[in-house]
Amino acid sequence: MLLTKLELAGFKSFANRTEICFDRGVTGIIGPNGSGKSNISEAIRWVLGEQSARSLRGTRMEDIIFSGTQAKKPLAYAEVTLTLSNEDRLLDVAYNEIAITRRVYRSGESEYFINRTPCRLKDIVELFRDTGIGKEGYSVIGQGRIDEILSNRSEDRRAVFEEAAGISKYRARKEEAERKLAATRDNLVRIGDIVGELQDRLGPLEEQAEVARQYLKLKEELKAIELTAFLHQYDRAHSKIAAQAELIASLSARSAERDLRAGVLRRQ
Ligand code: ATP
Repeated sequence: MLLTKLELAGFKSFANRTEICFDRGVTGIIGPNGSGKSNISEAIRWVLGEQSARSLRGTRMEDIIFSGTQAKKPLAYAEVTLTLSNEDRLLDVAYNEIAITRRVYRSGESEYFINRTPCRLKDIVELFRDTGIGKEGYSVIGQGRIDEILSNRSEDRRAVFEEAAGISKYRARKEEAERKLAATRDNLVRIGDIVGELQDRLGPLEEQAEVARQYLKLKEELKAIELTAFLHQYDRAHSKIAAQAELIASLSARSAERDLRAGVLRRQ
């Protein structure tokens, strides 16, 4: 993967838009002390996502915005674009050329772009993970980082070797998985508390449910008994009506017979 171009605008001493093209082979930048050589490597680290203003020799991120000289006014924002050739497809995207842009305003707000499309810092970090190019990558070694590689502290050297070996990606994923696991464990504890609380209320609720079940059963029984009683009363009333109707019919027949007999006697 080749670094092909670096464009700076308003970054530290680079007030005017400046383009530095890198050819194949080694490019050296030379100049007197304080002429801005380190600013160039800092621009590369910054565009790759550097978050520490101190490691860019400032106190706040806006310190990297051109602060003006006697002849030139300060600028409102700084922008750096780093272009890389991806013909060997070392980066997992289908472009031959990748341009990473970062812009920062005096408010401290940063914007990131991949090939001029807005993106998150996370996308840039993921894109370069384990390529050795990220802001912590071993390809960009700023002032002081040589000490890290030569350091006696194994943890310092380990970070550099892990990036080179390509295991930082898995370490980052492992850490994220562990964070999620811890959050899930917390959720489980909270769910356990809720279950405990509900179990305390379960006993009285079960008693109430049993009473309700009994009530419904008795209500059904009452309904059946009331229905049977009604039918019984109905049958009895019906039988009484039939007996009375029979009595009326026989009395009417006897009355008619008497009337007939009385008529015969009157005629004799
Ligand atoms: P050395 O070799 O001594 O480390 P160098 O060539 O690497 O020097 P740098 O330290 O990169 O130079 O550049 C520092 C220069 O950048 C200084 O002249 C400083 O005034 C200028 N500078 C830094 N920040 C800003 C800014 N925000 N606005 C304008 N100029 C800035």
